[in-house]
Amino acid sequence: MNDSSAVAEAEQVAADAAAGDAGAEGPKFTLELNQDQQDIRDWVHGFAEGVVRPAAAEWDEREETPWPVIQEAAKIGLYGFEALGQFFGDDTGLTLPIANEELFWGDAGIGMAIMGTSLAVAAIFGQGTPEQMGEWIPQCFGTEDDPKVAAFCSSEPDAGSDVAAIRTTAKYDEATDEWVLNGQKAWATNGGIADVHVVIASVDRELRSRGHAAFVIPPGTKGCEQGAKVKKHGLRASHTADVHLDDCRIPGSCLLGGKEKLDERLARVREGKSSKSQAAMQTFEASRPTVGAQAIGIARAAYEYSLEYAKEREQFGKAIIENQSIAFALADMKMEIDAARLLVWRAAWMGRTGQKFENAEGSMSKLKAGEVAVWATERAIQILGGNGYTREFPVERMHRDAKIYTIFEGTSEIQRLVISRAISGVHIK
Ligand SMILES: Cc1cc2nc3c(=O)[nH]c(=O)nc-3n(C[C@H](O)[C@H](O)[C@H](O)COP(=O)(O)OP(=O)(O)OC[C@H]3O[C@@H](n4cnc5c(N)ncnc54)[C@H](O)[C@@H]3O)c2cc1C
Repeated sequence: MNDSSAVAEAEQVAADAAAGDAGAEGPKFTLELNQDQQDIRDWVHGFAEGVVRPAAAEWDEREETPWPVIQEAAKIGLYGFEALGQFFGDDTGLTLPIANEELFWGDAGIGMAIMGTSLAVAAIFGQGTPEQMGEWIPQCFGTEDDPKVAAFCSSEPDAGSDVAAIRTTAKYDEATDEWVLNGQKAWATNGGIADVHVVIASVDRELRSRGHAAFVIPPGTKGCEQGAKVKKHGLRASHTADVHLDDCRIPGSCLLGGKEKLDERLARVREGKSSKSQAAMQTFEASRPTVGAQAIGIARAAYEYSLEYAKEREQFGKAIIENQSIAFALADMKMEIDAARLLVWRAAWMGRTGQKFENAEGSMSKLKAGEVAVWATERAIQILGGNGYTREFPVERMHRDAKIYTIFEGTSEIQRLVISRAISGVHIK
């Protein structure tokens, strides 16, 4: 998310508040999980414990996409359109964060290799027509025997937080009813190895982020190539790479939402009327609490590991947990993780039931969860002492993995910008 889209979001929040719209009616918020939610939680947990965790260290070292694990997930129905539909389908909104927390509790790198596709799916789901959803979402996942992944490409070398600075262009060729895309995308999860790429491009650069649109690049399209693969600090089982678009021609029907809708929207913006539809923003908005839940999964894994370790490890003739400094650190970790989860569940419930994010509650949830994950995993290393610093124990990997949660999907600073503008109505810079 960027500065100007942060402004747009803050303005929208203020407009909603002024309109006094309390949001749509929906299921009441409750912490009592229903049977379906418990079943899904236990099912994902079983996979995370039995399949993901044992494979975590190996794929982190290999720095490769764990295709065999993705395939296992596809075989049991955890990776695919139906699973995601089941998670999204819960009208309380809680199943999606619950499933993500459990999977990322298993391992975040593998978790992202499995869940990275959902960002592209969310964009198609959020902006596509019913026909586009039917055509492209199944292709994002492939089949049980031949799973595929998808990529969502918004960021560019000079457009990270500042999404409005995107330089990738999409020009319409009326003669052939095709869009021609040119530009370079950076840090794309699954970039280049994906079958389906969803690309955010500018159709009118003067309109900045309001001139953006989302396009599906079908599998095997000429002119869409992987650039450099990024070597990373953490999340190393998840593939991240640049994507080059070089006179990349796609059918007119690949513009998500269709040309008529885009033309209407651009006309409104040019007339100075407000436009609620900002391509990248919509995707980020829907995904923020889910990303927070992933961070909580990592934090909880580190907390549980260090709690057990502190009970076992003896120094000075007693278990180290008998020292208040260790026990209090664990108490704080548990409290912060639970607090973060409550923010995530609140935002997920608000989003699903159509409540307005008057105080940028989605941003709050992601900010808190990301920062708790970094802090708690660092505490876990401290509790394990020298062992915590080695690759023989999982907490150092968890700490490396956690760090990205204060950076991607809007850095902590950008989340604070969004929240502070929402609560104050002041144009904080
Ligand atoms: C592993 C990984 C996976 C990713 N996956 C994807 C993906 O699938 N798709 C995709 O499109 N992108 C992806 N990204 C990109 C990611 O979203 C960006 O890295 C992120 O948005 C930050 O942008 P930047 O790196 O350019 O940082 P910058 O925007 O250059 O920010 C640098 C620093 O300046 C601060 N800063 C910037 N502007 C302000 C401001 N106005 N006020 C205060 N502080 C500010 C930031 O908070 C940060 O601390 C991924 C990145 C990584 C590392």
